[in-house]
Amino acid sequence: MKTVVVTGVSRGLGLAISRRLLAEGFKVIGLSRSLSAEYQTLIDGAPKQASFRAFDVTDVAQVGNLTREIKRDHGTIFGLVNNAGIGLDGILATMHESKIESVIRTNLLAPILLTKYISRTMLDQGEGRIINISSIIASTGFYGLSVYAASKAGLEGFTRSLSRELGKMKITVNCVAPGYMDTEMTGALTGEKLAAIRRRAPLGLPLPADAAGAVAYLLGPDGERVTGTVITVDGGSTA
Ligand code: NDP
Repeated sequence: MKTVVVTGVSRGLGLAISRRLLAEGFKVIGLSRSLSAEYQTLIDGAPKQASFRAFDVTDVAQVGNLTREIKRDHGTIFGLVNNAGIGLDGILATMHESKIESVIRTNLLAPILLTKYISRTMLDQGEGRIINISSIIASTGFYGLSVYAASKAGLEGFTRSLSRELGKMKITVNCVAPGYMDTEMTGALTGEKLAAIRRRAPLGLPLPADAAGAVAYLLGPDGERVTGTVITVDGGSTA
């Protein structure tokens, strides 16, 4: 059974990814700060496949230790899905430095360090798959999301260059960039703003399960020779 580490599993997209990967027969090591009832239900349904570790990804000094412990407890790590993220918005001119730092730390620095340590174990194994959850905001503009956009665009640049570095060792590195999905992160977006986003998607807005399908593809046999790319799952919003 192949092991995949998924961050941000307590709700939203990370929960959907975990559910899909368990259904595909992967072993999932879920990380987030809290263990939700929904993720506990996944563990109860597949106790040999699903497990959980409480971990704050911004605690970057602990990433090395975490990786060693996962390796000790589970052996090899086939995949890493950097999904945990925060969507704090605000006008840049008045955004507090601590908020700016928190977005960059969670959405960019944490995935880079998790990838650094976990890719080392993949290098030893001679195979691996790394998937970074970006957003269509990395390449389109959105009022009030300049720092979030910087973090996601950074993640896409990181993905492309790292795919060149790791490709020869049979490790793939890709992004999945969802459009707007109805999760806790986007809960504040309502009314006419949400209606306008909805109107832009000819296929309708994507569900977390749709983006989870793209992650499963990149981790599956058909994803073996796909690297350095971004799979957009947005119902056609950016077409
Ligand atoms: P949610 O807010 O619903 O879930 C975020 C998840 O990340 C939670 O499980 C949360 O768990 C975890 N998390 C947040 N901060 C940390 C941290 N410091 N350490 C560990 N875990 C953390 O968001 P979504 O599911 O919507 O977002 C998931 C990803 O998808 C993000 O990267 C987001 O940027 C991206 N995305 C979302 C879109 C959307 O429209 N919703 C669109 C495009 C991309 P806990 O609080 O328990 O730690």
